[in-house]
Amino acid sequence: MSFAQILQQEDIPFDRNVALKKYTTFRIGGDALYFVSPRSIEQAQRAMALCLEHGITYRILGKGSNVLISDAGINGAVIYTAGLCKIENNGEYIKAECGVPLARLLKVSQGAGLSGLEKLAGIPGSVGGAIYMNAGAYGQSISDYIEQVDLWLPKASKLDSIEKSRCLFSYRQSVFMKSEGMITSALFRLSPASPNDIQQAMTDILRQRAMKQPLSKPSAGSVFRRPPNAYASKVIDECGLKGKRFGDAMVSHKHAGFIVNMGRATYLDVVTLIDFIRQTVFVKTGILLETEIEMW
Ligand code: FAD
Repeated sequence: MSFAQILQQEDIPFDRNVALKKYTTFRIGGDALYFVSPRSIEQAQRAMALCLEHGITYRILGKGSNVLISDAGINGAVIYTAGLCKIENNGEYIKAECGVPLARLLKVSQGAGLSGLEKLAGIPGSVGGAIYMNAGAYGQSISDYIEQVDLWLPKASKLDSIEKSRCLFSYRQSVFMKSEGMITSALFRLSPASPNDIQQAMTDILRQRAMKQPLSKPSAGSVFRRPPNAYASKVIDECGLKGKRFGDAMVSHKHAGFIVNMGRATYLDVVTLIDFIRQTVFVKTGILLETEIEMW
């Protein structure tokens, strides 16, 4: 039986040859040979086990807001987490599955009068993707409020419940970046506060983002990590690179840390622009920029 027939037989939702550009905020990326959309954690676990059994490589895709995917696509499976979206609130705790959009996590926290995550408002990722790279903004990181992360280890066929101290969180980094596992859910501990105050704090952050970031064009947010004692966007701007363009990939005029897709940007357009920025910045300032986005 083929891999596709097995997925079908096991009732695991999937499609073949799916254009990944529809699933990335950059609107770039070729086709995934298998695009698997599990409706439960058990289905996701089974899909990963089947991939391992059949020698199919796989990648986990959340909201696709921190990835740049090759135009050649993925010659394997993409496991898309959007259907893993249960969320529950118990006192000061919220437990969310990996596919819950951050926006929804924030809305549930606000509604429950639980404060902490407000500064993450406007980050267009999922809980899994945000934990994977310890997303953050305005001096706050998602890790600040995490109690525990559940990680499914497909090779060992085991669920590991990892306390925060073992997550090895630091600036845009976590232990999960070195693991082949899937973050299945996370437990957050927040502090009681007035829903109105929480809403106000979120609205302020969203306003600041709209002022500073080119939100009307597809992008993957800040392309580069913050270098020591500097800001990537400031350094890029000072090197005169705003508006620099290869094909349809352009350094945003509004925020030099963002590369925007002006229409039909390809993977190669973006990679060429990234290389050009890194070289120019290095020659002019001696700073070696590292990318924050992941390239598949
Ligand atoms: P994806 O892009 O889908 O995946 C990113 C990585 O996480 C991949 O390696 C993927 O395999 C892995 N992954 C995803 N889910 C899982 C899982 N369940 N288990 C294991 N691995 C998983 N980021 C910030 O930190 N701060 C910001 O202020 C910010 N602003 C942004 C603004 C804009 C306009 C955009 C487009 C992006 C911005 N980002 C920012 C980047 C991005 O939104 C975050 O990094 C986000 O957390 C990525 O989540 P995602 O679900 O989109 O991950």
